[in-house]
Amino acid sequence: MKKVAFHNLGCKVNAYEMELMQQNFRENGFDIVPFGERADIYIINTCTVTNIADRKSRQMLHKAKSLNKDAIVVAAGCYVETDRERALKDESIDIIVGNKDKKDILNIIWNYIREREDSGKEGECPYSVYETVSSLTDHTRAYIKVQDGCDQYCSYCIIPFSRGHVISRNEEETLKEIRELAEDGCREFVITGIHLSSYGLDMPYNTVAKDGSYHNEALTVLIEKAALIPGVRRIRLGSLEPRIITCEFLARMRALDCFCPHFHLSLQSGSNEVLKRMNRRYDVEEYEQKTELIRKYFDHPAITTDIIVGFPGETEEEFKETRDYLNRIDFYEAHIFAYSRRKGTVADGMKDQLTRNQKSERSAFLLKDSAIRKKRFMEYYMGRKETILVEETVEIDGRPYLVGYNKEYVKCGFCKEGDTGSSGSFMEGTVKGFINDDMLLLV
Ligand code: SF4
Repeated sequence: MKKVAFHNLGCKVNAYEMELMQQNFRENGFDIVPFGERADIYIINTCTVTNIADRKSRQMLHKAKSLNKDAIVVAAGCYVETDRERALKDESIDIIVGNKDKKDILNIIWNYIREREDSGKEGECPYSVYETVSSLTDHTRAYIKVQDGCDQYCSYCIIPFSRGHVISRNEEETLKEIRELAEDGCREFVITGIHLSSYGLDMPYNTVAKDGSYHNEALTVLIEKAALIPGVRRIRLGSLEPRIITCEFLARMRALDCFCPHFHLSLQSGSNEVLKRMNRRYDVEEYEQKTELIRKYFDHPAITTDIIVGFPGETEEEFKETRDYLNRIDFYEAHIFAYSRRKGTVADGMKDQLTRNQKSERSAFLLKDSAIRKKRFMEYYMGRKETILVEETVEIDGRPYLVGYNKEYVKCGFCKEGDTGSSGSFMEGTVKGFINDDMLLLV
């Protein structure tokens, strides 16, 4: 049996796709071993979001070759899409697999082996390929990837170059898959994509609401149909852009019992000047209106976001605007990323790049504020009844807890000594306090 080792870099979509590849190898009789062990095939699912990600991708490819010089080293994903020329020259790489070809990876490897060994093996690849690059399940939830690519061209991002234009997955196929996963016992579904708000833009759907404003009917209908599938108890959405938040969208989501009021609205900066330099397609006023609208339709929704701190030219004043804005919007969570240069992007060529120290100092301020807001958001639940979907048992300070998330994606735990739930089950309890900064205690 051939041994194969995987290493993943980068975003969640990459992680999902790697899981799918692993599943595919497993189903075809391969033995998956940890990266670091000697294997016959190494697959590195690369990332190119920053120059550092490029470097790490190369390091892992070289490491793979050093672990077994006779192994087949496969470079898959974004790095090889954006710097194919360099990848082709890299002697540690045997096979290059672009994002769109990941589903055919076994076929590609099979052909490579045939050619390398010149073995005269005839006929079809004996391995079956997976048909979609879409979903994966962990213990309790399935991630359903419904869209790939992006046409937004934010000035700091390489994804439109590495993943290409928007492609939406066929609705029927998506629903079929959700149905099968629900029949298998999966209860929570996360609808995700590289730029989820663009889902359906390549479909013959009307994306204009009755009042003339933008409305994504394709995504709305997909969620509504998924919610009707027996066994689907929760639906969450991946990262969204503000434009998708409309009265019609929110009203229709609110009507679904299984919809989780957790909105990850990517902001990146609270300064209009910085947003313009980033080539983001909204301003802070529009963004704020959308958060107000969400709060009108849902009671205590979780609104989370991503922030890039220290973007080229970010002045003290612009940073302060962002800091004040985050506090004003009162996010449940803000993921703070220090700006990192990415070769091939417009932002990489911008003047006034900030120093590492400036970026870390500013990040530290935002992280501190974020922790305070998060605690406040979680305190709201004290004394309230909450239901979690149990994901795992975790030991904290020597005691076992059944841990899961509520609908707003707040982590909660039951002390296992008194409870007998198991992974994949729903449990209800009353919030009695904090287990730690990240987790509420249910009894
Ligand atoms: S929206 Fe912007 S940041 Fe997000 S994938 Fe597209 S170009 Fe990149």
